[in-house]
Amino acid sequence: MKLNEMTILGLRKLLDKREVTVREVVDDVYGRIDSVEDRVKAFITITREEAYKNTERAQEAIDSGRASLLTGIPIAIKDNMCTKGILTTCASQILHNFVPPYESTVTGKLRGQDCVLVGKTNLDEFAMGSSTENSSFHTTRNPWNLDCVPGGSSGGSVAAVAAGECIAAVGSDTGGSIRQPASLCGIVGLKPTYGRVSRYGLVAFASSLDQIGPITKDVADAAAMMNVIAGHDPLDSTSAPVASPDFMAALGRDIKGLRIGIPREYFIEGMDQDVEKSVRDAIKKLEDLGARAVEVSLPHTQYAIATYYILATSEASSNLARYDGVKYGLREPAKDLIDMYMNTRAKGFGAEVKRRIMLGTYALSSGYYDAYYKKGQQVRTLIKNDFDSAFRDVDVIVTPTAPTGAFRIGEKATDPLQMYLSDIFTISVNLAGVPGISVPCGFTREGLPVGLQIIGKHFGEETILQAAHAFEQSTEWHLRRPSL
Ligand code: GLN
Repeated sequence: MKLNEMTILGLRKLLDKREVTVREVVDDVYGRIDSVEDRVKAFITITREEAYKNTERAQEAIDSGRASLLTGIPIAIKDNMCTKGILTTCASQILHNFVPPYESTVTGKLRGQDCVLVGKTNLDEFAMGSSTENSSFHTTRNPWNLDCVPGGSSGGSVAAVAAGECIAAVGSDTGGSIRQPASLCGIVGLKPTYGRVSRYGLVAFASSLDQIGPITKDVADAAAMMNVIAGHDPLDSTSAPVASPDFMAALGRDIKGLRIGIPREYFIEGMDQDVEKSVRDAIKKLEDLGARAVEVSLPHTQYAIATYYILATSEASSNLARYDGVKYGLREPAKDLIDMYMNTRAKGFGAEVKRRIMLGTYALSSGYYDAYYKKGQQVRTLIKNDFDSAFRDVDVIVTPTAPTGAFRIGEKATDPLQMYLSDIFTISVNLAGVPGISVPCGFTREGLPVGLQIIGKHFGEETILQAAHAFEQSTEWHLRRPSL
């Protein structure tokens, strides 16, 4: 196996036993980038110089016995997390020249372990989308079929991991942006419980929903990444003051007697037949491993997309008010201040971002606030209550991650409603604030990956990692790699 195809934990062993050097690993990853990146287009910025600088520091740490989990491991970062001194664009023209003067907590933790930062990855502008087609730079391609989207919005991070252009990555998930692309690219993506991982320095999209999480080649790596990035952060007022467990301790525990809930409302018409078959087979597999499947109901599921697109756009319209051309980012010439705001925002934001600012501003405006925003908050509570009551009877809930495999570039780009439906199975999880993981569980007839979503209780990451690991270790889906 090539070094770039390996996992964090696989490389950790080789590096610690001095069977390979950090330099060899980094050379291999950049060699891979040189040979596939012009087709995959996973990155906005490639930080080769910075990476080679870190290579020496990482090797020294290993040589002197000071290595941590990620020391010397090439990691990619979604370009909506602030990295001090490194361009951070959110794939938007409004931040095309923004070099943050500070570091996000998560990237600080990663870099603090002397991981090797490979580059900043592409996304839908401000993480709004499900395909990366809303990036103002370029569309990332699915490594399994270059005519298809990788999913989104963390499509760049996911494609980079699947294509071997890095060993692991971090993404953000507001309504599915880690799990849906992980599903479409055949790898593992975990959205932690809201508050588990600090959002400090993550450029805000919808602050009550955004969470950062790991994107990895297997479940053990996801647990390893969680050990590094989770934890209370006084710099994020919504970060939960709870102790982080050792997430890796959950790996390898059997799932005999684990109660898995299958929500009636998630096996819907319009779901791809191959997806449904793969997920049903996966549920059988979990039962073979000793889990007990029971039907549960999440009755307010049908309102999830509408609720999300009221609340997320409301929060976005407020969060994005700061891009006014005054202190940083794009500034367009104008005759006066108001004109400058208008020209800058008209030129700097893309169509989807403008659509959301308008929707959100409308939902929050006086006279409509009660009818839309307040109603949305009330329905959000009903959706959360659905999960609370289902979790009285089961330990985890299992669903498809996405209703279809990867779709073709352009197929949904002109139909926002169709695009919004890509997240039909992931959005409720953010509204409820619970954790969810996507693991590979099969392929469609066209040879495109299918993901299984395992949802847990608040702060129940260990249980979903345990179930995901047991499933993964008894199947071979996660071992397949695209032939690029
Ligand atoms: N696709 C959803 C949206 O467009 C979710 C995006 C995300 O999770 N960042 O809002």
